[in-house]
Amino acid sequence: MHKIEGISASEGIAIAKAYKIVEPDLSFKDHPASDKDKEIGRLHEALTASIEELTTIKANIVDNLGEKEGLVFQSHIQMLSDPEFISSIEQLILDKNFCAEKALDVTSNNFIHLFKSNVTNVWMKAQIRERTSDVIDIKRRVLGHLLNIKLPDLSLVDKPVIVVAKDITPSDIAQLNGKYVKGIVAEFGAQTSHSSIMARTLKLPMILRAKDAIKEIRNDDELIVDGLSGTIVINPTRLQVIDYHQRIKAFNVEMKKLQGFKEKLTTTEDNRHVSVEANIGNDNDLKSVTDSSAEGIGLYRTEFLFLGQNHIPSEQEQFESYRKAVFHMKGRPIVFRTLDIGNDKQINGLKLTNEPNPALGIRGLRLSLGSEELFRTQLRALIRASSYGEISIIFPMVSTIDEYRRARSIYDEERAAMKKDGQNMGTVNLGVMIEVPSAALLADEFAKEVDVVSVGTNDLVQYLMAADRMDGKVAGLYQQLNPAVIRTLKYIVDSFHTEGKSVSICGELASMRIAIPLLIGLGVDSFSMNSESILKVRKLISKIDSKYAKKIVDQIVRNAATSDDVVKQLNNFLDKI
Ligand code: PEP
Ligand code: MG
Repeated sequence: MHKIEGISASEGIAIAKAYKIVEPDLSFKDHPASDKDKEIGRLHEALTASIEELTTIKANIVDNLGEKEGLVFQSHIQMLSDPEFISSIEQLILDKNFCAEKALDVTSNNFIHLFKSNVTNVWMKAQIRERTSDVIDIKRRVLGHLLNIKLPDLSLVDKPVIVVAKDITPSDIAQLNGKYVKGIVAEFGAQTSHSSIMARTLKLPMILRAKDAIKEIRNDDELIVDGLSGTIVINPTRLQVIDYHQRIKAFNVEMKKLQGFKEKLTTTEDNRHVSVEANIGNDNDLKSVTDSSAEGIGLYRTEFLFLGQNHIPSEQEQFESYRKAVFHMKGRPIVFRTLDIGNDKQINGLKLTNEPNPALGIRGLRLSLGSEELFRTQLRALIRASSYGEISIIFPMVSTIDEYRRARSIYDEERAAMKKDGQNMGTVNLGVMIEVPSAALLADEFAKEVDVVSVGTNDLVQYLMAADRMDGKVAGLYQQLNPAVIRTLKYIVDSFHTEGKSVSICGELASMRIAIPLLIGLGVDSFSMNSESILKVRKLISKIDSKYAKKIVDQIVRNAATSDDVVKQLNNFLDKI
């Protein structure tokens, strides 16, 4: 038995065997083929084994995710059976005396080179990128078989596991099979990263910054992942397992008790109504919105429809997803955010150029304004969905008023053109996310121009504090409760209230226990969060006197100098309720 401490990124407790996803070393020793027939035989064995493996993976993916998602594996199978590809490898073995590994390596590189030299336009570029990564993928698989090294592959998992990785990306999570993956441990990552946000939505216990997890944990070790405390127990004793089963029971009882807060409006102790809403990423999350009795969808992160797919969803596909959400909400508010790609979120077919500072580069609305067709397609899909119920659309990563005006005029153009074509459409409120300091300082100006606003504290904090939200090394400076953040929030809320407009917060701060009295005291009107937190937050709000919270917050704004000062005052407040 041995323990590792990390930080909890998603609550809950899981017990299962470890499944490590670590990229194995596939380097090989280059040696001349002493027996060419034998080398060709090895090649064919590896090709056959790879095709069999891909057939299983494809079947699992189709079962779990759908026919469309399996297509990429079908194309890998086809490539591995391609006579031109196979004969090129064989030829190198026969003519140049290469070993099978080298012949495969050289042939794959030649294919990639050939693809690239045929690029004549931008559209082809995107296709070539996909085909290139397909070739790299199949080479990796066949090499694995030639070298007798097993590649990690989550889609081959057929029993409950806890995934152990160095790092975990949003695309990794998008492809996880929830039936078997019970928890996640990673050596890197941060609580406000999109991977963490997704794990919370999926109710998957997750621990990050688990030092040396890859070294300390072996495949098939039994693990307890305690997402409440951030502890990982490796090969626990029998008594520990019994103890943790008790804790799982207690956790479930606690969750059950919260059900009493379902179907209730959220009101403070002194009867001020605030709205508690859900953040979602795609239509699979709609069930959790109803289960948690969210009062609306405060943030629909539309980019998650694009993640984990091998193509960019068409206008029709997007429209169907958006309409589904509008139907599901039956008149309750729903706020769609346009694509926020870039930084830690990449989508296939739209690979961004490498930037020295991706968080400060082309992401969010910057990308949409630079890829107008993509933006217009999404806006048309959303406008069509509005004919089934009122919606709001907000733009992410807005720095200037000009950007908002440009986005709005593109929206106006699309709407006018659709109207001319006789397209049905309903009310759409337009607005921004405030998550860049320049937009925060211009809150008074934005308040005059937009219909709706949502404050993205995850990014706002990283840009205000100049501390990357994903970089563990500066986690100490990523202070969500720094007085600088609080003063900025106050300015935003006051500016919008002056214009008679309400303010929503959709960053992770909105579900943090310690931040709830603060946000109530600041006068925030709507809290949007992962569905899992909704009932807990509703319960906490019901115990808060908003006038008293305002008094404390006024003191904090006037006197607090450090994050610790704020934490102390808020903890004092919470201790008394
Ligand atoms: C935010 O920045 O707070 C936010 C809600 O957006 P995201 O986490 O998707 O960047
Ligand atoms: Mg953001």
